[in-house]
Amino acid sequence: MTGRTHDLAAFTALAGTIALVPLTKLSLATAMVAFSANMIGGLMPDIDQPTADLWHKLPAGGLYSRLITPLLGGHRYISHSILGFALFSFLSYYLLQATSHVLIVDSHLVWWSFLIGYGSHLIMDTLTKEGVPWLFPIPIRFGLPPMKIFRVRTGGLVEKFLIFPGLIIINVYLVYAYHNKFLQLLHHYIR
Ligand SMILES: [Zn+2]
Repeated sequence: MTGRTHDLAAFTALAGTIALVPLTKLSLATAMVAFSANMIGGLMPDIDQPTADLWHKLPAGGLYSRLITPLLGGHRYISHSILGFALFSFLSYYLLQATSHVLIVDSHLVWWSFLIGYGSHLIMDTLTKEGVPWLFPIPIRFGLPPMKIFRVRTGGLVEKFLIFPGLIIINVYLVYAYHNKFLQLLHHYIR
């Protein structure tokens, strides 16, 4: 999937979570950092390719990409697996802990938001022809549906005209069906 679709998928997963879990009070700063963490999580697994969108968004991203991408073993390896997900969960957790005295936000919410973005990426990539090596280092790629021919080609017509608009429709539905909850979040819970 393209970065644009991953951004939207991460946002959709976050909106779905907000719709389904009980609301908690949070600061505006936490809301903004959590939103950014969700986007970063949604693009993070693709840091294994030097052309990843995330690299372009970082200052001197090209330099880092040349250092880090070889460590991840090539596109769609460890960062696209349960093991990689666990690894990035730990890393982001300790990074948030380490910065907690500088970054005055609810790091727990920010962390969850990052994980939701990351998870959404792996699920979306599972729908593509290449599939995802969920059980890395076992070299099997999983995809849905299991027959490759029915899966999506990255950047292809199905992604552009079915998956992307489909995600927009899901968001419209969520806002419509749970409008009270979203309004409550904006008016009463974010301080
Ligand atoms: Zn990916």
